Amino acid sequence: MVTSFFEYPEPLQYIENRYIPKKLDGGDYVVTIDDGAWALLSKSEYNLLKTHRVSEDPELFKKLENLGIILTKSNPGKIVDDYSARFAHVFNGTSLHIVALTPRCTQRCLYCYVNPQPLSSKGFDMDEDTAKKVVDFIFQSPASTITIEFQGGEPLLNFPILQYIVEYSKKLNKKYKKHLAHTVVTNLTVMSEDILNYLIKSRVAICTSLDGPKEVHDKNRRYLGGGGTHDDVVHWIKDIRTQFAYNVHALPVITRFSLPYAKEIVDEYMGLGLDRIRIKHIIYCGLARENWDKIGYTPDEYINFWKEVLDYCFRLNKNGKKLLEGTSVLIARKLLSRDYEAFTCLGWPCGAALSQTSYNYNGDIRICDESRSFEEFKIGSVKSDDYRSVYTSPKALNAVALTCGLNSLCDACVWHPYCNNCLVSSFGQQGNPISKLPLDYDCKIRKGLVDHVFKTLVYSEENRKILLEWCSTKFGV
Ligand code: SF4
Ligand code: SF4
Repeated sequence: MVTSFFEYPEPLQYIENRYIPKKLDGGDYVVTIDDGAWALLSKSEYNLLKTHRVSEDPELFKKLENLGIILTKSNPGKIVDDYSARFAHVFNGTSLHIVALTPRCTQRCLYCYVNPQPLSSKGFDMDEDTAKKVVDFIFQSPASTITIEFQGGEPLLNFPILQYIVEYSKKLNKKYKKHLAHTVVTNLTVMSEDILNYLIKSRVAICTSLDGPKEVHDKNRRYLGGGGTHDDVVHWIKDIRTQFAYNVHALPVITRFSLPYAKEIVDEYMGLGLDRIRIKHIIYCGLARENWDKIGYTPDEYINFWKEVLDYCFRLNKNGKKLLEGTSVLIARKLLSRDYEAFTCLGWPCGAALSQTSYNYNGDIRICDESRSFEEFKIGSVKSDDYRSVYTSPKALNAVALTCGLNSLCDACVWHPYCNNCLVSSFGQQGNPISKLPLDYDCKIRKGLVDHVFKTLVYSEENRKILLEWCSTKFGV
């Protein structure tokens, strides 16, 4: 008589874990399980798994037992540990706190994911009282690591509040003793030596957008009154790195205008001495949604572009140059380790309302930064809610449930342990956060990305070496 889950009758020897198979072009199969383990199987091995005859091949039995793809009397403890490691980030509390200091901006980029306000607009800057409440709210998070990221509009237009938050959070942290970091995401157009000196002195990391050479960047990123911003951004990237010996990270957002310039965009980064490039696609929100006819592309067009960038980066590395492509690293790390860094937008669940949250200038709390242009994703306010009530609210819990990879969109997808659907993108594209699979733009892009990184790791010896070297590089991407 079987009296508990792990008591198998001898001839059975094992039961299958929940696995998802996918047939690869060459005839092999990949099977993945929820904790991220996967195995590449020949057709005959896959048939043994499928027909419950793994015991006929002792080597395969051992391999699948080790991976937790089959459950035996020996491996339940290991499987529990593997699942705990994989989902550790779910229980850590919110660590990335994005504070939008103002929606005012010097620019009006074609793909801006918020709705930027003109410079002269009044009543859109975060005030000190709200900033204090934001920081007090942030420190209610149980996370041991807290990153406060300043966003806009252009956050440096409200520099006194940036300073206030840096100083007040450092002061509070004397009591809480968390790993506290600050980052500003700036278009660099209102940077000055005074501001820069403060950022350097306070160890605020600097990130910016550089969409490539002038002919690409200036199409996407223009001043409000007209005129491209490329020269000013490049001037400050060079200055910060050389005159001030401080690091600045940049990333290019890809629009239709970028598609013919894969090589030139990478060369621009190389030319500035940057050692990484993380290609970013646009999603259906903010101005990108309004301008889709002008700047949008199909998922296939984007994936082909990204592959071109990646191939070029591999070629450069083979020739002794050092430049890594960040999206491939993020995905490869997830495919190769259970202890992957939770990174919002490519996590399972994604970070929305879980490891990431966003605070608008007026204290409204949103599930993630990209969701700021949709009122529907508001989950509370620092003025009226505390951490516990926000994160146990039906809205926050629904957001997590919808990005957990086990919804109707993702539960049968082989890549769900390394991915998730983007409810902000689905909402922007289809008017519903619960996506209709065949239509989902972001899913097609994500599928293309994970598929290609997987194939690179499995089938391309030379590129795998480079990718593994990138993965071991000690920095986030
Ligand atoms: S909802 Fe979309 S944009 Fe927001 S964190 Fe998740 S994947 Fe990223
Ligand atoms: S978003 Fe698409 S590719 Fe990603 S897990 Fe869901 S179904 Fe799979």
